[in-house]
Amino acid sequence: MPFRPLDELDDLEEIELPKPLPLRRICSTTTCRGTARLGGRHCLACHARAVQRYRDRHAQQLATRRRDAAPLRDEATRAADSARAKLAMALRRGTMLRGLCQICGTAAEVLAIIEDPQQWRDVVWVCRLDRDEARERQRDEQAELVRARERAAWADERTRVLAAIELLPPNERAQLHALAAQGPAGWTLSPEAPLYVMNLVRVYRARFSRGAP
Ligand SMILES: [Zn+2]
Ligand SMILES: [Zn+2]
Repeated sequence: MPFRPLDELDDLEEIELPKPLPLRRICSTTTCRGTARLGGRHCLACHARAVQRYRDRHAQQLATRRRDAAPLRDEATRAADSARAKLAMALRRGTMLRGLCQICGTAAEVLAIIEDPQQWRDVVWVCRLDRDEARERQRDEQAELVRARERAAWADERTRVLAAIELLPPNERAQLHALAAQGPAGWTLSPEAPLYVMNLVRVYRARFSRGAP
C-alpha cells in the first residue's frame, strides 16, 4: 500500500475502513458445536432445552406469579392473553391445527402470531428462527432510521449555522474560524476537514445559543 503524506489525510471520510468479519459464535454448551443465537450464548436447541428445564423446575412459582399478575394486566395484554388461551384450547381440542412456517415451510418450532386478538383464528405461523430474524431485521431498520434522522438533523444544523456565520462581521467570523482550526493535541485543522466544520458549528453554538432553547 503506498503511503500518503500526512497533509493529504485531512478528509478522513475518504479513507475506507476495513469491513468487520462476519462472526459465528459457538454455543456455550460444552459438548455442542451449534451456532449461538443472535444476542444469546446458546444455540436454538440448547436455549429451548434450558427454558424448558427452567419452566419445569419453577412451575409452581411461575403459576403463582401469573395468577398474581393477571389482575394488573392492561386492556391490550388481557385481550392478547385471552386470544392466546383460546388458540391453545383450540389446538388441544384439535379444532385447529398448527401450521407450517409461512416463510420457510418448516413444521419445527412453529410459533403463532396473532395480529388482532379479536380475530384470533387468523394465525400467522412462523418458525422461531424466522421470527428471530425478522425481529433482528426490524431492530436494524429502526437503528438505521434513527441514524438517518440524526444525519439529516446535523446537515440542517450545519447549513443553518454556516449561513449564519457568513452574515457575521468579519472580525467575529475570523475569531470563530480560528477556534474551529484548533484540532486535538494542538493540531491545526484545515477548513476542509470534517472536524473543522463540526468545531465551527460547536463554537458558534457555544457563543450564540446562550439562553436559547
Ligand atoms: Zn447448543
Ligand atoms: Zn421458518
